[in-house]
Amino acid sequence: SHLVDRIAAGEVVERPASALKELVENSLDAGATTVEIRLSGGGLDLVEVSDDGSGMSPADMALAIERHATSKLPDERIEAVASFGFRGEALPSIASVARFTLDSRCRGQDGWRLEIDHGIRIGEGPAALPPGTRVRVEQLFGKVPARRKFLRSPRAEYAACLDAVRRLAMARPDVAFTLEHDGRRTLSVRPAGLPQRVAELLDPSLADHGLPIDLDRNGVRLGGVVSLPTFTRGAADQQFLFVNRRPVKDRLLVGALRAAYQDLIARDRHPIVALFLEVPGAELDINVHPAKTEVRFADPQGIRGLLVGGLRSALDQAGH
Ligand code: ADP
Ligand code: MG
Repeated sequence: SHLVDRIAAGEVVERPASALKELVENSLDAGATTVEIRLSGGGLDLVEVSDDGSGMSPADMALAIERHATSKLPDERIEAVASFGFRGEALPSIASVARFTLDSRCRGQDGWRLEIDHGIRIGEGPAALPPGTRVRVEQLFGKVPARRKFLRSPRAEYAACLDAVRRLAMARPDVAFTLEHDGRRTLSVRPAGLPQRVAELLDPSLADHGLPIDLDRNGVRLGGVVSLPTFTRGAADQQFLFVNRRPVKDRLLVGALRAAYQDLIARDRHPIVALFLEVPGAELDINVHPAKTEVRFADPQGIRGLLVGGLRSALDQAGH
């Protein structure tokens, strides 16, 4: 539809995994305790997210697909990292570059459906669903060749989706997640404590070979699980880092991780890591683009020190 929507869509949503992430975050924001995800063709054909969250009234659904409509306060929690300045963009952006079906139902109300085809409302009416919300995104970028050409194979897009789901599931061990791809169940986790959730998602052996981390320094908290130096991998593909519960891939943090394990493991080995850094909002640069996973810290050296020093002494205490 509107060119401006499609341009914005490319910024917020680049591939099925980023659409999936936005939808699941909305489910979590709506207080879901169960999130069910269905994909086909690596998410290129279908991304569907169903939740048992608050649901929306028909009027709120109509608002939700308008640009810049958000029900969330800008200063809500310390979401500076990922959301600030990009409130109310995700649903309209996704709906402008796909076939989009939004079903929702508040408790004690009837369900309603809105159908949108590349930004154009093509229908609405009653829908049968349990209380909560279900979003279907079909043929993402199907009519946007300029974007479509950046997409990879269904297999690669699926891998990115799985990665996104694992990160989201790790950040919220209290929520149940299921993932289905091309009709096959590929992930299913029930509510659990963090160490158990991480072991379930990454490696069951972490229950025995993992070191729980829980540190607090000047208002900065570091928690999670890291593998002992005796239990490492040949690839750095099992390292999950979060800042204020948002998944990040940050150079500074990865570098600090390396430094913490230096001399403890061979250069070509990598620990398994799920680490959550909680930093006061003022310590973060809020101007970093939300679709990116880099963060900027006001005091990078302090953060690095906490990670290297904290992990190092935890590993030392564990006898390494
Ligand atoms: P944002 O999350 O930044 O507010 P979105 O475009 O992602 O913007 O969503 C727009 C609005 O739609 C949200 O503010 C919320 O009110 C509503 N919404 C979206 N997804 C859900 C959901 N799964 N359950 C309940 N409300 C939702
Ligand atoms: Mg959102």
